[in-house]
Amino acid sequence: MPVPALAPYDDQNIFARILRGEIPCRRIAEDEWSLAFHDINPQAPVHALVIPRHPYVSLADFSARASQAEISGFFRAVGAVARQLGLEEPGYRVIANTGLDAGQEVPHFHVHILAGRAFGHRLVPASAE
Ligand code: AMP
Repeated sequence: MPVPALAPYDDQNIFARILRGEIPCRRIAEDEWSLAFHDINPQAPVHALVIPRHPYVSLADFSARASQAEISGFFRAVGAVARQLGLEEPGYRVIANTGLDAGQEVPHFHVHILAGRAFGHRLVPASAE
């Protein structure tokens, strides 16, 4: 079920549990601000997730409450993960589903990095427009 972008933070969500080491992940990288791991249900040949270490429900929450250091550290990490995975050429797509209409399912802010095939210029399938 999709979650509202500004719901109260649920510390039992799956990414909070991954951050606490309660359940495993296929880790790609981590630093002071972020953890990156492979999506369990990949939607492209490469499908990575990058999450902040601190508890934010969504991009809406993160952009409103995170410090400048956290925001810059997090987005530098997104770029670094893509670089580490060798995705800069021929490119990659970054998505942050935010709230109900976007279909956000895990209520801990995360960025998807998708790559390994050409996505074309459409952001959403024609049938959904
Ligand atoms: P979203 O719809 O943007 O909230 O995306 C949540 C993503 O988390 C989906 O692509 C799921 O496949 C992924 N996911 C859910 N549980 C796990 C898990 N335990 N490890 C890795 N990825 C997960």
